[in-house]
Amino acid sequence: MSAGDRINKLRRQLRRDGCGSLLVTNFVNVTYLTGFTGDDSYLLVTPQHAVLVTDARYTTQLAEECPDLELVVRSPATGMLSAVAELVSRLAIRQLGIESGTMTVGLHQGLLAALPKVQFEMTSGLVESLRIIKDRGEMAAIREAVTCAERAFAVVRAALHGDQTEKEVADDLEHQVRRFGGSGCSFPPIVAVGPRAALPHARPTQQHIGEHDFVLIDWGARKQGYMSDLTRVLITGKISPKFERVYQLVLKAQQRAIEAIRPGVLLCEVDKVARGIIDRAGHGGHFGHGLGHGIGLEIHEAPRLAGSQTEPLRPGMVVTVEPGIYLPGWGGVRIEDDVLVTRGGHEVLTSVPRDLEDCWVS
Ligand code: ZN
Ligand code: ZN
Repeated sequence: MSAGDRINKLRRQLRRDGCGSLLVTNFVNVTYLTGFTGDDSYLLVTPQHAVLVTDARYTTQLAEECPDLELVVRSPATGMLSAVAELVSRLAIRQLGIESGTMTVGLHQGLLAALPKVQFEMTSGLVESLRIIKDRGEMAAIREAVTCAERAFAVVRAALHGDQTEKEVADDLEHQVRRFGGSGCSFPPIVAVGPRAALPHARPTQQHIGEHDFVLIDWGARKQGYMSDLTRVLITGKISPKFERVYQLVLKAQQRAIEAIRPGVLLCEVDKVARGIIDRAGHGGHFGHGLGHGIGLEIHEAPRLAGSQTEPLRPGMVVTVEPGIYLPGWGGVRIEDDVLVTRGGHEVLTSVPRDLEDCWVS
């Protein structure tokens, strides 16, 4: 789908909401609608126009990334506020939607003062609701981000040894992702040995991999702007029967949840499948986050697989499925894969083996 198609989709949405124009201030949304990957630029979408308000630093990049886009290139002396206000006046816009999630209070107040006749409408999640369904090009980019992450992991895993620190493994992942064509990791990788794996967002430290019997690695790659997100637990020593029980439970919860994914099933129902299995085994209190999240231009985006989400799954959504059990002082197990909702059900995009016997590194 071209940038123009996405803008037209947004226009239809705006018409339905009775709000003709929108000032897009979320840079990720600007990227989605235009293909422009720079910052500090806002997009004004009206029924007839789509104009990017930017500055001279970006003109070369804009010529390459979106040569057909209408531009207002503000001079260093003209602030963003005056440039936007001038454009809104010139286009005689009477009613303007703003993105309440990213518009700053300062800019909002400035616009109210500069444009007393314009009626401002708070909107939220308009462009995000389009981003929820991935088009062909986006799916291809996510697949590449998955492949890149998996190739990087294979190299890191093959070289893994007990003398490495968590930090060294995380840095190596970052390096390998770039070697395989990614623009970087989709977030700073989590590499957490033993008890540190009980922290869902552990930051890599100087602890050695060999100090404990298992290590949790949560990583992803970014390619063509799109993200992948995986978690595996690798076994580096001798594991206890307790570890095995916890691992098999998380794996079962994940598998059942993935099997439940198909169009029409509610987001909360998928969460409930995994949570029910973990609850019944007495670990309900040890799974303190949602089951998964959308991935795309951002590492966490709509939709969310969580108890509060009552929307149905739709073809074209891409979500992570990542149940976990975290026992303070002992450690944690999380298994995470990326799943595309298809018309007939689902497709698991990630392929790193996840059975217990696949987790051993020698
Ligand atoms: Zn993750
Ligand atoms: Zn995730």
